[in-house]
Amino acid sequence: MWCNRYKAGLILIAVLIFYGFIVACSKQNTFSETRFLLGTDVEIKVIAKNKPAAQRAINTAFSEIEGIEKITSSFIEGNELALLNKAGSSGNCELFNIIDESLYFSRLTNGAFDITVSPLIKLWGFKIGKHKVPTDSEIKEILKIVGYQRIILDYKNKKVYLNKSRIDLGGIAKGYAIDNAIKVLKTSGIKKGLVNAGGDIRFIGDKTWSIGIQHPRMRSKLVKKIKLKNRAIVTSGDYERYFVENNKRYHHIINPVTGYPATECVSITVIANDALSADALATGLFVLGVTRGMRLIESLKDTEAIIIDSDGNIFTSEGIKD
Ligand code: AMP
Ligand code: MG
Repeated sequence: MWCNRYKAGLILIAVLIFYGFIVACSKQNTFSETRFLLGTDVEIKVIAKNKPAAQRAINTAFSEIEGIEKITSSFIEGNELALLNKAGSSGNCELFNIIDESLYFSRLTNGAFDITVSPLIKLWGFKIGKHKVPTDSEIKEILKIVGYQRIILDYKNKKVYLNKSRIDLGGIAKGYAIDNAIKVLKTSGIKKGLVNAGGDIRFIGDKTWSIGIQHPRMRSKLVKKIKLKNRAIVTSGDYERYFVENNKRYHHIINPVTGYPATECVSITVIANDALSADALATGLFVLGVTRGMRLIESLKDTEAIIIDSDGNIFTSEGIKD
């Protein structure tokens, strides 16, 4: 389902396709631009015939990401997500879509991916960056309102209801934004290109791209090089947001069952057909760990994973060639 503002975008896009058509047959060039969005550098690169059409597609795709960030960010006071968390219900179309997708991945990962971890993220201090290790009893108390089953979707009226819980979309919003930016590029007539949000990337078109997967501890070292075409690749790591207390590292991906950061892995890379699936699965696999995570990946079509566990062992799914 497309939300209302997408329809407005389509009118503009129809004009762009026509514009592209009349200047057809010239040489293709690469156009790219980077803006700071979603808490990271977002690069949009397109291969197109003419600069004005490419630039307009890029601008529209950036507006799309901006719009999604405004609604879904946990760091913008008074936005639609904040209102949902406060009031316990929302009729926002974007939130409905993304929560609907989130619940699909909660069921698929048997609850490892769970957007109701929000109060735990806050308790551990990851929301405002004032970190602290909570007590067991504080965690137990918060766990009472954690659980994706507490979210109720009214499909008829496209409304979301939270039963005392609060939600955080940090594990899926980037993938959702990348996919929607890609949708905009495609509708703008772009056939080849990519959207790269801080290393989480989706490619479109008939071009093969080489990707290096960074070592989670030695950032200049690559653990693997792979080639991708028309796919998305997303990495979740324990090095993105963390703090160290008494020589122990605590990071931002929380096991919704225990209330503590997941400990088995340090980095999960997932390759899928779309960025939302790769994003949700990367976060979910981080909690599931190597055995359960790989079992899930092998059961999914067109989906691959590279998992690095806390001892530095690297596991790759069947479809990843050496
Ligand atoms: P990512 O970098 O995509 O793995 O997302 C990490 C973010 O997802 C965290 O900063 C939290 O906002 C959120 N998060 C943490 N643990 C979970 C979880 N178990 N399920 C869903 N989202 C989570
Ligand atoms: Mg994720």
